Amino acid sequence: MTQIRKILVANRGEIALRIMRTAREMGIQTVAIYSEADRNALHVRYADEAVCVGPAPSVESYLKADVIIDVCRQLGVDAIHPGYGFLSENANFSRMVREAGLIFIGPSPESIEVMGSKLAAKAAVADYNIPMVPGTPSAITDRDEAKAISAQIGYPVLIKASAGGGGKGMRVVESEDEFDEQMDRAVSEALSAFGDGSVFIEKYVTSPRHIEIQVLGDQHGNIIHLFERECSVQRRHQKVVEEAPSAILTPEIREAMGQAAVDVARACGYYGAGTVEFIVNDNLDFYFLEMNTRLQVEHPVTELITGIDLVKQMIYIAEGKPLTIRQEDLQINGHAVEVRVYAEDPANNFLPDVGTLDTYVRPQGNGVRVDDGFEQGMSIPIYYDPMIAKLITYGESREEAIQKMIRAIDEYQISGVQTTLPFGRFVMEHEAFRSGQFDTGFVSNYFSPDKLTPEPDPAEAELAAVLAAYLLEQAKSSKKQPAANSPSTLTKKSQWKTNRMR
Ligand code: ADP
Ligand code: ADP
Ligand code: MG
Repeated sequence: MTQIRKILVANRGEIALRIMRTAREMGIQTVAIYSEADRNALHVRYADEAVCVGPAPSVESYLKADVIIDVCRQLGVDAIHPGYGFLSENANFSRMVREAGLIFIGPSPESIEVMGSKLAAKAAVADYNIPMVPGTPSAITDRDEAKAISAQIGYPVLIKASAGGGGKGMRVVESEDEFDEQMDRAVSEALSAFGDGSVFIEKYVTSPRHIEIQVLGDQHGNIIHLFERECSVQRRHQKVVEEAPSAILTPEIREAMGQAAVDVARACGYYGAGTVEFIVNDNLDFYFLEMNTRLQVEHPVTELITGIDLVKQMIYIAEGKPLTIRQEDLQINGHAVEVRVYAEDPANNFLPDVGTLDTYVRPQGNGVRVDDGFEQGMSIPIYYDPMIAKLITYGESREEAIQKMIRAIDEYQISGVQTTLPFGRFVMEHEAFRSGQFDTGFVSNYFSPDKLTPEPDPAEAELAAVLAAYLLEQAKSSKKQPAANSPSTLTKKSQWKTNRMR
């Protein structure tokens, strides 16, 4: 066992801060890396030491494995936490880290390698009786054969990139006549996103729900699961709203999925924190999709319902400590919901809308957690993922967590960029979400921009500000107390309205 005294976080934004906070609580020194675009970023200020590793584009900075390892040598770092995205699922990087005599806070390079390929992952778990969606067992090389298989399993089918991630390289094929076209698109998307054009076919599960299981394994062969997260509210096959537990799982299915997830982890000799993703149909049959060999964006909902700090566990595991949590000691307490706050315009196809956060005031209060990496006045760089924050609420019941989320969204004041907050409010108020009866088609089935409140006109807002200043002057000169709807109250209300629905 090696005690970690100094950690370098090879990431940026909210996840870098989240990891450093836990490290600090554990008495571990923290080192941040940053690109030239992130000089003033909060993770840089938070760290005990920070080193610039290159220009803004991530290939020249956050993805510079050798530079990052050099920084560790120079600063006497013991361990690297990769966060999510960037180098987190790069087996070569984790191998380089080990070869440099450093600890990689994550699984072995072998586990990353196997699970990094959806096809290799399916092959690896073949002996464990894990339910899988019907499809081709290997990459498509012959199109006619692929079409024959598709006809056999029945359309619609999904063409997926084996190296896929982040919802990229995935195409639904409704019928055979569009097969070739969608195949070409999937291959070219896979090539440009992952440098690997291998694709395969899966039956497209109708009314699919995305439900995933959090696992933790130590280096001594102990593996446990920390229940599920429901992530069915997605745009572009990417999650925007997550919750734990799922509104629909029965204790029996939860147990069966948990067991299957532990088996998947065992199949690749897994240690560290990981997520086993399943697709679930309306009959609650579940099928293994893939395993993400890293800390997940939505991990806070699991932390809230289990009371376990996942980053702390990852650090203990990396130090070689055996897990002290036993499966039978774990239970679900309450309910947690997360809304990802992206600088994206929900009224315009969720296109990124980067810019400056002219107003940025976080919600507060009991049961509200905000994981973010920004302050008022900061700009969201165009170079990286446009996520501003994760807004997480916790309540004794699902209903309470949702109510808190609506309240928190109303309190959250962001101006200067469009965000997914109004969309989050739409979801929280929608009867399908409320009832728990929804699937990954939620956005396409129910959402359209007209469901959002029109944004306040900037000219109108300016007029309101001028009027407010005038009223304030009036109030002062007549030496009266400002009335209940004083100018400041007026401004706040109008900002709060931005997150409201009709
Ligand atoms: P999660 O399951 O953790 O929610 P996401 O799909 O939202 O994962 O991805 C989390 C982050 O990791 C995003 O910034 C996404 O762009 C990035 N990411 C995911 N998969 C890959 C990949 N294979 N290669 C590069 N980046 C990825
Ligand atoms: P990624 O690596 O991009 O996360 P996944 O295999 O996890 O790829 O799939 C991402 C999303 O695509 C899932 O959450 C789900 O919404 C959808 N999806 C994937 N496979 C299927 C399937 N066979 N049927 C229906 N939807 C699917
Ligand atoms: Mg996935």
